[in-house]
Order: sequence, then C-alpha cells, then structure tokens
Amino acid sequence: IESKLPQVKTTIFATMSTLAQKHQAINLGQGFPDFSCDSSLIEYVNQAMLAGHNQYPPMTGVPALRQAIAEKVLNLYHAKYDVDTEITVTAGATQAIMTSILACVHPGDEVIVIEPAYDSYIPTIELAGGIPVLVGMKLENAQFSIDWDLLATKINPKTRLILINSPHNPTGMSLTSNDFEMLANLIRNTKILLISDEVYEHMVFDGKAHLSIASHPELAQRSFIISSFGKTYHVTGWKVGYVLAPKALTTEFRKVHQFNVFTVNTPMQLGIANYMQNAEHHLNLPHFYQAKRDYFRHALADSRFQLLPVSGTYFQCVDYSAISDESEINFATWLTQEIGVAAIPVSAFYREQTQNRLVRFCFAKQEKTLDAALERLLKI
Ligand code: PMP
Ligand code: GLN
Repeated sequence: IESKLPQVKTTIFATMSTLAQKHQAINLGQGFPDFSCDSSLIEYVNQAMLAGHNQYPPMTGVPALRQAIAEKVLNLYHAKYDVDTEITVTAGATQAIMTSILACVHPGDEVIVIEPAYDSYIPTIELAGGIPVLVGMKLENAQFSIDWDLLATKINPKTRLILINSPHNPTGMSLTSNDFEMLANLIRNTKILLISDEVYEHMVFDGKAHLSIASHPELAQRSFIISSFGKTYHVTGWKVGYVLAPKALTTEFRKVHQFNVFTVNTPMQLGIANYMQNAEHHLNLPHFYQAKRDYFRHALADSRFQLLPVSGTYFQCVDYSAISDESEINFATWLTQEIGVAAIPVSAFYREQTQNRLVRFCFAKQEKTLDAALERLLKI
C-alpha cells in the first residue's frame, strides 16, 4: 500500500530494546524503571478489580481520578482546572499527544516542533495532514537551549500549534520563566495553540520547582498540558496519563478521544486515584531520582564521556566524541553489541542527520543495574 508515513521506521525504543535483549546488554536505552512500583498501588488496583470495577468508566475518566488530578494541579501550580470540563484521562501521554494534534491540526496547518523532539510528535502531525516545521535547539558548551529568535522566524499565519516539552527528553533541560515570557511574546496576538508535554513534571532536580504551563495563565489559556502516571509512579506499562485544557479545547479533544480509545482501563484509574491521596508519592520523586542522577554522573565523571547537564527527566546525555567519530546510531549499536550497554542515539530525536556525537542513557534503574553498566562504560 502507499504508506502514509514513508519516512517512519519502527520506533528507536523498540529497536534498541530488542537489540539489547538479543545481545543480553544492560538496557539503559528505552526509558523505563527496572524496579517495581509500590505494592500499595498494586493493591489498590486489585481492590478495584475485586470490587467489580471492570466495566467501562466514564468516557472522560473516573471522577475520583480527575478530582485527584485537579487537586494536585491546584496545589502545585495554583491553577484551577474544572474536574468535569477541563481534565481528561488518557491511555498514556502518547495518546494524549496524538488526540490533541488530531483535534486541532487541519490539513496544511504548520506545527512548530523543537528538535531534538520526542519521536511520536512529527509522525503524528503528518498523520493529521499538518506540516512539521522544525526548529533546532542550540547546543553550546554541551548545553542545549531553545533559540527563540530562530523560532520567531518560523511563525506565520499558517502556524497552528507549537509543541514544547519540559523537562525535556532527551536533553534533560528545563524551560525557565524567561522561556515562557519569550513564548508568550511570540504568540500573544496570534491564534497559535500549544501542547506542553510535561510527563517528567515530577523529576526536577537541585531544589527547583517544575515550571508548568498551568502556572502561566496567559499560556495555559491556549494549551493542552499532558502528563503520564507511567513516569510518576514507575508503571510505564499501565499507559495512563491525562490532559488538562480549557473547556473549549477539551471539548474538541474529547470529540476525538471518544473515537480514539473512548475510555481508559477502569481499575488502574481507580487504583491511581487512591494512591494519589498521599501527595508524598509524587513529592518524593525529585529526591529519589536526583540520588540516581548524582550516583550515575559521579561515576561517569571518571569516564571518557562528556556529561551534559541534567536539570530534569531520568535521562543522561553524553558526548562520546573523545571515544569515537562514528555516527550516533553506529555508536549506540556498538555500545549495545560489544560493550553490553544499550543507549539511545540522540539522532532518533531529529528528522535530519546532525553532526552531534550524543547518546542518551536512562538512569531509572536499581543501583546494581547502574553499577553493572558503569563497570562496562568505565572500561571504554
Ligand atoms: N512524551 C515524552 C517526552 C516521553 O518521554 C514519553 C515516554 N517516555 C511520552 C511522551 C509517552 O508517555 P506514555 O508512556 O505515557 O505514553
Ligand atoms: N518515552 C520513553 C523513552 O524516551 C520510551 C517510550 C517508548 O518506548 N515509546 O525512552
């Protein structure tokens, strides 16, 4: 058949995990924890199933979960989202991203994507008939940042949407209030909408608070804000997330959502709603992951890799140019096959080839996994 996505191959995360398995490499590639979630979370889900909550929930999500999300967002970001009309539970962030894009991008609309970008964004825009307009981040002194002047040159009357992601996968950078002001100035007198991918909102380090678009009323008014319980509660396989958006945007979102998945599994939603009652479960996360980040970075400081700063996420990007001049995909493949540690080439987050020499490691792992990987990486 004539492909709708001729440029798309199997996602790098599946590819590298398969390669890691084949070579029995330690998998620091695909982003997922190798430890279990809290047993109480599993018990809550079990209780929900045993109590008979196994049929369709409401299309918009279980009310108790939407309520818990509203309370969290109010407490952390001082933003009020209406439980019934402005919060929708989704099958992970991936579905929320796709549904938001399908809901607002018309054929021929331009959508600004800041690269490196999570790999689902561009194919999803193309499926909607939109035109991805790519804006590369600046990489100076091993530090990524957004070039707002460059982004400004891409805005025109066809621009429908801008996607942002903070904390950012794969770079680990986070947007600042200055970035928000630049963005607000750029779109103030336009009809441009925003998707703010905040799946790593609870992984922000060094005592800083996550800056959510929800806390910026002017931007929030035109934004779909997306998060994922997979990241926050160490259950990436459950695929439960949510989208916050003002009523008019939520109305359009739900028109698509109801025919996309219709609903998201009931017992997980109820279990998560129960678990969220204790805010410590997400408030402890920065501390938990910062310890892992510091442990991993400290050990890698003695290696030949150059470490990029990580202000958030559970990813560490490293520059390997002191070790090899191979392309990122070749280097990541070699690392997996020959060294026994899988990583993700950062080129997977770009549509065009770059000259960078970067790979991404996921440090959401038990100490013994990190130790085993470090032993191999320090030998290179
Ligand atoms: N956005 C980003 C930036 C991600 O890193 C991920 C997954 N790691 C997702 C979206 C998708 O999240 P989910 O697994 O909840 O679909
Ligand atoms: N988002 C995760 C990552 O960046 C992986 C998700 C996936 O496998 N699609 O590693």
